[in-house]
Amino acid sequence: MEIRFERTSAPKVKPDESNLGFGNYYTDYMFVMNWTDGVGWHDARIVPFGDITLSPAAVALHYGAEIFEGLKAYRRADGGVQMFRPIENIRRMNSSAERLAMPQIDEDDAFKIYTTFVDCEKDWTPHAPGTSLYLRPFMFSDEAQLGVHTIKSAVFMIIASPCGSYYAEGLNPVSIMIETDDVRAVRGGTGYIKCGGNYAASSRAGLKAEQLGYSQVLWLDGVERKYIEAVGAMNVMFKIDGKIVTPALLGSILPGVTRKSIIELLKDKGYEVEERRLSVDELIEAAENGKLEEMWGCGTAAVVSPVGRLGYKGKDYIINGGKIGEITQMLYDELTGIQWGTKPDTHNWIVKIS
Ligand SMILES: *Cc1c(COP(=O)(O)O)cnc(C)c1O
Repeated sequence: MEIRFERTSAPKVKPDESNLGFGNYYTDYMFVMNWTDGVGWHDARIVPFGDITLSPAAVALHYGAEIFEGLKAYRRADGGVQMFRPIENIRRMNSSAERLAMPQIDEDDAFKIYTTFVDCEKDWTPHAPGTSLYLRPFMFSDEAQLGVHTIKSAVFMIIASPCGSYYAEGLNPVSIMIETDDVRAVRGGTGYIKCGGNYAASSRAGLKAEQLGYSQVLWLDGVERKYIEAVGAMNVMFKIDGKIVTPALLGSILPGVTRKSIIELLKDKGYEVEERRLSVDELIEAAENGKLEEMWGCGTAAVVSPVGRLGYKGKDYIINGGKIGEITQMLYDELTGIQWGTKPDTHNWIVKIS
């Protein structure tokens, strides 16, 4: 697979590293390639970052043919740049594509694309502690066709955004609201893939949570509204009576790379991790009896996000006195240590770019 390169005539001035935030700045280039039914993927190219044109009849705009990924490149202390388990994101995007009957990308080609693009943009990886270069691969159908049928053309792109530390003000616990009306996903639906539609379906509950003073929603299963699923854009884990519990992957929850990595790290350290169904009644009972010892969300953006307050049916439950728990902190230290290269990568998770 050849990747054509088109040089920019106007390289940008890099932003101030102390004030990056999330998703506010984009690098000089973007990766683009096209797929046409009967031809396959073609015209792989790295071109100057810029607007794209799209027919107003594009399938992505009307029928939601859109999937995405999220991963990061990290700056090591020696100045090099590295990625964390990109093959997991490559495989998950193929799983998302398969679910929406969109084209998959050969794993080796995708690996070459990801690493070539990061190598091209590596100078944009910020240096300040906790900062990273966020990568957003995505695919959508640009086919101009209002009739509903399987897609005949698609575009795959990657854009990159230098991002600040998620925890500029320290690892402060967040407040989460258990949503009892709206549901995010059902088994047989799209809950286990990364598609824009899942987020569209989540936004009303997200707005309600925000208005009530919570930062995110904790979802219950879509059938019985009884079992804990996940937090907004993160998987969720609990320490209940000394044991680590996380919802099992039964088809409606996103299989997070962070979730998977944390389970492996916990097992390395000798903790028992229960992947199972956990009912909201069991969780609330544990909270009432003082047995809900820790709760955290996990995902690429935040790594781990401690939960200090849980709202359910108008009542608030404070977890660990509203402070970050011991295991949550340990997981944050271990995982970020591997990602930024200050701890040994005993699992071969790291892909060095430079
Ligand atoms: C991306 C995402 C996650 C986190 O996945 P990671 O691979 O750990 O970043 C969790 N839940 C949802 C709904 C997501 O979209």
